[in-house]
This record gives sequence, C-alpha cells and structure tokens, in this order.
Amino acid sequence: MRRISIFGATGSVGANGVDLIRHAGGPAAYHVVALTGGRNIARLARMARELQAEIAVTAHEELLDDLRAALEGSGVEAAAGEAALMEAAGRPADWVLSAIVGAAGLAPGLAALSQGGVLALANKESLVCAGALLRRTGKAAGTTILPVDSEHSALFQALGAENLDSVKDVTITASGGAFRDWPLERLAAATVAQASTHPNWAMGQRITIDSASMFNKAMEVIEAKEFFGLGPDRIKVLVHPESIIHAMVTHHDGGSIAHLGAPDMRHAIGYALHWPTRRPLPVPALDLAALGALTFRAPDEVRWPALRLAREVMAAGGAAGAVFNAAKEQALDDFIAGRVRFTDMAPRVEAVLADLSAEGDFGADPDSLEAVLHWDRRARRKAAA
Ligand code: NDP
Repeated sequence: MRRISIFGATGSVGANGVDLIRHAGGPAAYHVVALTGGRNIARLARMARELQAEIAVTAHEELLDDLRAALEGSGVEAAAGEAALMEAAGRPADWVLSAIVGAAGLAPGLAALSQGGVLALANKESLVCAGALLRRTGKAAGTTILPVDSEHSALFQALGAENLDSVKDVTITASGGAFRDWPLERLAAATVAQASTHPNWAMGQRITIDSASMFNKAMEVIEAKEFFGLGPDRIKVLVHPESIIHAMVTHHDGGSIAHLGAPDMRHAIGYALHWPTRRPLPVPALDLAALGALTFRAPDEVRWPALRLAREVMAAGGAAGAVFNAAKEQALDDFIAGRVRFTDMAPRVEAVLADLSAEGDFGADPDSLEAVLHWDRRARRKAAA
C-alpha cells in the first residue's frame, strides 16, 4: 500500500490533499503515515482519525495536551513541536505533500526528501529560499520533486518531455488579486480584510494577500527559475483575470502550448498524487462556451513592484531568495498586525535587500539548512517594523 504524509494538512492546500485521498479510497487505499498542522487541533484530529494516520503532529508544543485529548482512543500517536515534525518527516513515506506555509516548511521538506519519498511541493518558499539545496537533496536521495503550485504544475504538464532548448520562454498567469482594478491612490488605505479576498481562488490568508501585492507571483517567478532551470529572461508574467489558463510554454517555432483548467487546487495536487499516471479527479471540467471570453493584460510594475524585485533577486543570486522571502514574510506579518500599510510592504522588502547587499554580497547558494536560516533571521530582524 502506498505510504503518504501531508505536512500542513489543516490548511487550504492540505485539506484539498486530504479530500483527494478520501476521494481515492481513504485508509483502504493509502497508508497515511503523518498528518501535521498548527493551531487547528480539532481539524487535525478529525483528519487523522478519518484517515487512520500513524501520527498527528502539531507544530505548537503547548497544544500537545489538546491534541492528545482529541485523539484519545483513536490509536493515532500525538506529538508536538519542531523536533516531532522532523521525526515525522523522517518516517518512510512514498509521497509527501509539503503544504506548510512559509519558510517553516523548508526543514520538514528537506527531511522528507532525504528519506527518499517523492516531494509534492506546494511550499514555494522552499524553492525560493533554498532551490539548489532542495534539488541536491532530492538528487542524493534518488527521488523527485513535483510541483503543486498550479502554474508550475501547468508548466510541468505543458512541457511534458520537450527539450528545454526548443523553448523560447514560459508564461505564468496572475489573476491580479484583490486590487487589480483599484485606483493606485486607494492602495495605501487597503485593509487586511480587503486584501484577504481573492477574485477566483479559495486559499489561505497569507497567499491571498500575497496575490493582491503580487509577492506571490514574484515568488512563483523565482520558483519557476529554480524548478525548471530557466533563465529569468525566459519567464514571463501575464495578467489573466479569469484564472483559466494557468501557464503557457512558447517554442522557438512560434507555437505555444497552454494548460487550462478551473481555478481548483485539487487538479494540481491530484496530478502530483497520481503522477506519472492520470486518474479522474473531483474537479469540474471547463465549459469554454459558458465562459465566453478570456482576457489578458500586461502586468503593471508600478502597481506591483514585487515583480521587479523578483528580477533583482534572481540577478543577485546566492542567498537573495532567502532574504527576499524572509523580508516579505516579516512585512506581511506587520501588515496583518496593522503595523504597516499595504503599500509599505514592497519598499520595506526592497530596503532589506539593499541593506544586506550593502553589508556584503549574498554569497553562493546556501548549502545547508543552517545557512538558509542564518540569512532568514538576518532579513527578518532588518525587516521588523
Ligand atoms: P494555509 O495558511 O491555509 O495553511 C498552512 C498550513 O501550515 C496549516 O496546516 C497550518 O496549520 C500550518 N502551519 C502554519 N504555520 C506553521 C508553522 N510555523 N509550522 C508548521 N506548520 C504551520 O496555507 P495554504 O494552504 O494557503 O498554503 C500552503 C503553502 O502552499 C504555501 O506555501 C502557499 O504559498 C502554497 N500554495 C498555496 C495555494 C493555495 O491554493 N492555498 C496554491 C499554491 C501554493 P494551522 O492552520 O492548523 O495553524
């Protein structure tokens, strides 16, 4: 029986993963090794009971008693804290969904890769902070990293077995998020609640706000560079308000192959779950006649300065990705807590990049988790409001 684990099971991507496991036969079809969560103990315990997981882990040690109580009599082991997450990630599994939000997902992802399981990667922060390290770890363990981000899954599917030499460039689309059509002068007053609504996708709060600021797309451009080994000049962003075309590969012969689908993460997660085969998924097929029209526009870098910052980060190389992500996470924490305005986030991240590069360059690609975390901590300290 195939052994699977889901890190960040209680979140938006994780819960979609659980839904797919349920749809594909649940505990009768899969041996669920580990499910992990954060503060949502009731949801974690419910999932672990239903899927008869070996172990359920909360990231928060102070919630261990609550988790134990919620799992009483179920036969599911309960554990808590960082060390417990790492122990669970080291348990042999054939397929691991990495769906923790933020740089916190990197260490368990690396541990899961090291034990040799296929890593289905939603946690884009891992590739932005430590792309080379992640790839090297996967290679050493003889295993595969599969994209779960919808645009990267779309590129992976559109590329198929194509030789990258035949590819002129790739395009990832962006809905434009909550403030796509707002007058620029209103953005400074945008509230957390307004930034936390997405026109098309149902996602966690952090990625939803990152969609409004386009930090999410900036991260995805870097993720595409790391995942596919394409130079920054071959990765384009296109605003596509309907979120139906997720990505497109354009060849030197002028032909383009696009991937289309409803904005439903269960497609990308399910594709990674069943790869290299395709199985029916509980995802509605597109009705293009009902949609009528698809629209596109060029991204406006005055509205979304994060896109320019992504190019600067890729040009700087080394630890710039780890610094960018950490500064962005800190700026987002501060926006959510009401300490800075929506429009303060990008200048703050830019200032951290400038300050840390003025203190010395970003060096070579970080070659260990400790090296990544060193840059992460420095950037967070600089970015704190
Ligand atoms: P959510 O906020 O919905 O879920 C995050 C998950 O991580 C939850 O299980 C949460 O636990 C857990 N968690 C939070 N903080 C920590 C921590 N410090 N240590 C361990 N676990 C933690 O996020 P999403 O599902 O939206 O996103 C997850 C990842 O997938 C992100 O990297 C995101 O960029 C990426 N992604 C998401 C998409 C989406 O559709 N949502 C699409 C493509 C990529 P709890 O909730 O119990 O506190």
